[in-house]
Amino acid sequence: MLIRDAKKGISHDIWEVSRREGVSADQLRGLLASGQVVIPKNVARNFPARAIGKYMSTKINANVGTSKDYDNPADEVEKARVAVKYGADAVMDLSTGSDIDAVRRRLVKEIDVPVGTVPIYHAARKRKNVVDMSSDDIFNSIREHAKDGVDFITVHCGVTMSTLDRLRRDPRVMNVVSRGGAFTIAWMLHNEAENPLYEEFDYLLEIAAEHDLTLSLGDGMRPGCMADASDRAQFMEVITLGELVGRCREKDVQSMVEGPGHVPLDEVGTSVSTMKKLTRDAPLYLLGPLVTDIAPGYDHIVGAIGGSIAGMYGADFLCMVTPSEHLALPTADDIREGTVVTKIAAHVADTVKEGQRELARARDLDMSRARGGLDWAKQYELAIDPEKARNIRETRMTASDACSMCGDLCAIKIVKDALKESKR
Ligand code: SF4
Repeated sequence: MLIRDAKKGISHDIWEVSRREGVSADQLRGLLASGQVVIPKNVARNFPARAIGKYMSTKINANVGTSKDYDNPADEVEKARVAVKYGADAVMDLSTGSDIDAVRRRLVKEIDVPVGTVPIYHAARKRKNVVDMSSDDIFNSIREHAKDGVDFITVHCGVTMSTLDRLRRDPRVMNVVSRGGAFTIAWMLHNEAENPLYEEFDYLLEIAAEHDLTLSLGDGMRPGCMADASDRAQFMEVITLGELVGRCREKDVQSMVEGPGHVPLDEVGTSVSTMKKLTRDAPLYLLGPLVTDIAPGYDHIVGAIGGSIAGMYGADFLCMVTPSEHLALPTADDIREGTVVTKIAAHVADTVKEGQRELARARDLDMSRARGGLDWAKQYELAIDPEKARNIRETRMTASDACSMCGDLCAIKIVKDALKESKR
């Protein structure tokens, strides 16, 4: 087990990751052992490990998955490939189509990054109606996903009767927008019973420990619009998640915590720092945050603005948002666009993140030097999306060695030549 191994010494994964992240192996070992960093990696899988959490570079996740209306597993695997090509550090399968097993099993086999799932979607699809799922359906799906090699799962354990009570007493504009949160609430209300994932959390920990499955403690109460941000229901859930993080650590199970959602710009910092504090500095996985509600078609940009600010305050893992957010299932092109834009947000956050600032800024400095030297090959190499940068320049070339923006009036060239002349 990763945490137990980290408590003993420095494993190959720790050594490899520390080298890539620019931290010492001993520091990473300590962060893993304390739970401030996770390395989602099922015991059954073998791929280059990635660390998420304190002092690590900000990671990004891309969501793929079938729906009833777009039900082609091969397309979703292809979207995952596109996401990884453009820099996704993890892929989540959110399939709810007819063959849920197909996408997950192919991702685990064919994609070399951590794979996450939301097993309650699978459990819900096993019954005609969400409320007819049994507790066994939920845990059997979790077991099945863990056995298949899934590296992390979202489990909405913090949606409890008391969270629900807060929601009732403090009504929202959009109630609940998390799919897993909605399933759980519908189930609890219909069956008049507590959330099985909360009630039988020890059983969940047993399964997770057996497979080294990282638990991503889901935010079923994440606000779905600016007006609902940072309310009692949301923070009631966070308080519960903080307690569950403690129970994970007692059993050496890796855990991270998911967060909002839609958050006004001036609440992002407080929201992130409060969540970090309440969850004992657990790695924080944010779904956005979206800092305005009025830009459908451009929500990837809205998410990137929120994501970079959240990263500055300590968010560790950003979930990609695509241009189709709130509108439709994303295409492969939406995934490419969303991944690149989220990667930019993650890098921007790293330029100010403790532990990553020097490495990230060195890349900016290298780019500036290449730009100043009109070294195009180097600029492409350093670009977040080299393909796009090369394509733009090379389809609109100029006779000069500058670019067609100013051509022979290139400011960089003019000043360089003038300085050279004055020296002579
Ligand atoms: S031509 Fe203008 S935009 Fe292009 S490299 Fe020179 S100064 Fe920059």
